[in-house]
Amino acid sequence: MKADPTVQRKLLDLAALDAELARAEHRRRTLPEQTAVEEAETVLRARRDAVVRARTSVSDLGRDVAKLEQEVAQVSAREQRDRGLMDSGSVSAKQMTDLSHELDTLARRRGVLEDSQLEAMERLDAAETDLAHEQAALEEAETVLADAVERRDGVLGDIEVIETRRGAERTELAASLPEDLLALYDQQRARSGTGAGELIGARCGACRLEMDRSELRDIAAAAPDDVVRCEQCGAIVVRTSKAGNA
Ligand SMILES: [Zn+2]
Repeated sequence: MKADPTVQRKLLDLAALDAELARAEHRRRTLPEQTAVEEAETVLRARRDAVVRARTSVSDLGRDVAKLEQEVAQVSAREQRDRGLMDSGSVSAKQMTDLSHELDTLARRRGVLEDSQLEAMERLDAAETDLAHEQAALEEAETVLADAVERRDGVLGDIEVIETRRGAERTELAASLPEDLLALYDQQRARSGTGAGELIGARCGACRLEMDRSELRDIAAAAPDDVVRCEQCGAIVVRTSKAGNA
């Protein structure tokens, strides 16, 4: 294949653009800011679960308190009814004794219920404090995630600017190259990652390996518009003033 030396040198600009685009792509895939977002999402999910658990506790304990309140009220109503009967003077002496026993039992029952009610209210109190704590932690986790997303999107935006700008430059440069030369370059780039390299001294700029004397001699003997390839990596070797003499 033949290509004018000035056209061949454009391949180095193309390789530089491709390298920058590859770095941007690599950066996009390995963004620490993305890892931070994923970590913040994990924390947020755990926080949400904790709030749900705390809320369930509060509502369960609230139900317990209400149930005990109702039981205390039932016992109190029964006591009131019994006292009413005793005060009415319309019951017999035997009934008076029975009612008096029942009132003792009811008073003991109410005492037990009121103790339980107090305990349940204390537990409810603690659960409400816990819920408030978990909600605050959830809000904090939401803030951390929002900040992480903002930072990541900022970096992604920077990468996108590079990709758009360099991508447009690449398209323009590629369009100015002969089709067969560009096809060879792209094919080589797909194979090894680098389509063309500058010959620096005796070293291929694509694979960085030093060429032996016979390869250097062949390259030196080739016409300036001959397209030569590196024997090691296959890249198009572009000869500039930096090329060594065999
Ligand atoms: Zn090479």
